[in-house]
Amino acid sequence: MYRFAPSPTGDMHIGNLRAAIFNYIVAKQKNEGYILRIEDTDKERNIDGKDEDIKEILIKFGIKWDKLYYQSKNLKFHREFANKLLIDKKAFCCFCTEEELAAKKQKAKDEGVAYRYDGTCEKLSDMEVLDTTKPFVIRMKKPSHAMKFTDDIKGELVFEPENIDNFVIMRRDKTPTYNFACSIDDMLMDVSYVIRGEDHVSNTPKQDLIRQALGYDKKIGYAHLPIILNQEGKKMSKREKDSSVKFLLDSGYLPEAILNYLVLLGNKTPCEIFTLDDAIKWFDIKNISKSPAKFDIEKLTQINREHIKIASNKRLSELFEMDIKFGDLIRFYTQEGSLIPEIKNKISQIYSKKTIPSEYKEYVDLIKNAISKVEIYENFNEFKQNLMKLTNLKGKNFFMSLRILLTNQTHGPELSELYPLIKDDIKEIVSKC
Ligand code: GLU
Repeated sequence: MYRFAPSPTGDMHIGNLRAAIFNYIVAKQKNEGYILRIEDTDKERNIDGKDEDIKEILIKFGIKWDKLYYQSKNLKFHREFANKLLIDKKAFCCFCTEEELAAKKQKAKDEGVAYRYDGTCEKLSDMEVLDTTKPFVIRMKKPSHAMKFTDDIKGELVFEPENIDNFVIMRRDKTPTYNFACSIDDMLMDVSYVIRGEDHVSNTPKQDLIRQALGYDKKIGYAHLPIILNQEGKKMSKREKDSSVKFLLDSGYLPEAILNYLVLLGNKTPCEIFTLDDAIKWFDIKNISKSPAKFDIEKLTQINREHIKIASNKRLSELFEMDIKFGDLIRFYTQEGSLIPEIKNKISQIYSKKTIPSEYKEYVDLIKNAISKVEIYENFNEFKQNLMKLTNLKGKNFFMSLRILLTNQTHGPELSELYPLIKDDIKEIVSKC
């Protein structure tokens, strides 16, 4: 079983989407199921409606989940397993207050040493624990040996017990921490492999430790994806607009282009332009580079143009919210723009009321008048020659006026190439001026 486990705490970041795509691709390759697990146990950080946004985005990208879980619904299992860890003495109750812990953290900071939980409550006897009415968290006991795992991108990783520390698994309010809920759910949902961002590398030994302490011996495979850097070479923060999937979609990037770009990023691929189905045929997580990849919006823009060129008329009509008959015209205008709104704008200029510069007004009127009289020729040359004859215009006066009349622009593509794509609508187009 594979899974994508987003927290509904903000807009989906391209790093999250990349993990969602990679897990999906590998699940398809292995013919295994794919779970969407909304990790909503941190009530303070949850934002209403973000779960729906996540689902909508995945659907747009063609990522279909077989099962949907809300992690908060699993709370009773989290509590039961925390209880078992307490009974088995693999975990302990900690009554230290926030203030006490803050003072110890400050002391470690002042002394220039890394803070670690000092084991105060691990030493309490059962009677001392039972006698206490103070609120408590539950902490894991440290492993007796170093925890190791082999990451399919980073290689073998080793974590010493002191770096795993007595991490908290249940909060004072009896809700599980991320590491605990995630570890238990991956076990209960029979997850076999996890691809996620490298910010989770140090969580993996903790999650493995929890499952080992519960006697679960299925080995879960891991691949942690290097972070995505911005153009300045810094970690792409959630606040940077280009990092938001919603922002990219709203700007007019196609889901298929974003997907293509995210699979291409820091990867060795057999070609540059491909679809999700193509990637399922050859994707190998081991080809992902260990070093961070740089997000290049120019490259994404170029890929977007290529995907517009290969999209079917039906797909273009959905994406551009235009009649299916505009497919060829949309593809044609990739020479002028790469994003949906840029291209849409060029086409709507053709079909909307024109603004005629005064120096061309007279010529435009002549041409417009002539067009209403001529038949619509298949061929631009015949059309043009006929109009020149009827209007007695030539050179710039003729061509610029015709261009303005047809496109509402003074620059643009070759009219001879544009003409076949709009000739059936010519009378309608020139009536709007
Ligand atoms: N909810 C975590 C996140 O969004 C999940 C990480 C994981 O895949 O385990 O970062």
